[in-house]
Amino acid sequence: MKTTGPRSAHIYRATPRNLARLAAALRRGELVAVPTETVYGLAANALDEAACRHIFTAKGRPAQDPLIVHIGHLRELDAIADSNPAALILARKFWPGPLTMVLPKKSAVPGIVSAGLATVAVRLPNHPVFLRLQRLTGLPLAAPSANPFGYVSPTTARHVHDGLGARIKYILDGGPTPIGLESTIVDLRNPRRVRILRPGAVTRDQIAQALGCAVSAPRQRKPAPHAAQLAPGMLTRHYSPRTPVTLHRHLPDSPHDTFATTDAWVFFTRPLHISGKNIFALTSDGSTAAAAHRLFSTLRRLDYKGYRTIHIEEAPNGGLGDAINDRLRRAAARE
Ligand code: AMP
Ligand code: MG
Repeated sequence: MKTTGPRSAHIYRATPRNLARLAAALRRGELVAVPTETVYGLAANALDEAACRHIFTAKGRPAQDPLIVHIGHLRELDAIADSNPAALILARKFWPGPLTMVLPKKSAVPGIVSAGLATVAVRLPNHPVFLRLQRLTGLPLAAPSANPFGYVSPTTARHVHDGLGARIKYILDGGPTPIGLESTIVDLRNPRRVRILRPGAVTRDQIAQALGCAVSAPRQRKPAPHAAQLAPGMLTRHYSPRTPVTLHRHLPDSPHDTFATTDAWVFFTRPLHISGKNIFALTSDGSTAAAAHRLFSTLRRLDYKGYRTIHIEEAPNGGLGDAINDRLRRAAARE
């Protein structure tokens, strides 16, 4: 998304000097966009209520959508949340990594971070640049994706600049994010009723296997448009380009099929006999990891080009394919 108006954000390379400068900005209560292995985040000191309020303003994010708190060591968890044996098993197995746990919140974390909920979402990211910065601050960092609310999440520093360049000052460049999809969120408030709230790169099967118990799938709920209490972050329409997206279980693939040139057609894997300027693929070899890595940058690139509609083929179900299809369904949702 291009924004007009003044551009004040600067993109910083991860040099020791720049990291020290951005750590100081975070300690002063300023916002810094940071790389993680999932997507870029818009970070602030999670213990500073005013700093966290700026996140909501910069993104245009509704106050009822809680933030994820990012820590740099497992030992920092206790200051943020009440842990339990199941949480520790998952932390030891999947941290640092793309797994966010929802746990009872400690009072040091201001209510604005959790949108007033008694629970807080916590993660320890696996990205060397993020960890170097976080460890210089010594602070827990609240960070949602670094994009205007509802738009496609950013997977490069340039994407952050395109969306928030006029609203923030500091963007730390850690290169393209390796995974490219937001973290898996797991509800661990009650260790006997573990539920996935958002699918991601750590799969439900992996979590069930690590815990040795059943894990529920995300609820497919469709909130009423004017529901006073939307389930946090469960907005149906999200991660959306401006161009309408139409989802297909399978795109047509016979040599006689025609593809309107006003539209973009995105295969999961492109059949060899189908090609054209408006024909794209998420992966050349069927790898869901490659497709996840390219999904959001592909959506953005096609959105910038002004097609009438973006047609996308779903990923095969299961594992990371479920996370890709979750984002595709939200991108295609009309409300
Ligand atoms: P984002 O960082 O933009 O991917 O958004 C963070 C998401 O984390 C929110 O939209 C929620 O889906 C989820 N989340 C954060 N805190 C909680 C919580 N306490 N309970 C349930 N979900 C949460
Ligand atoms: Mg987001």
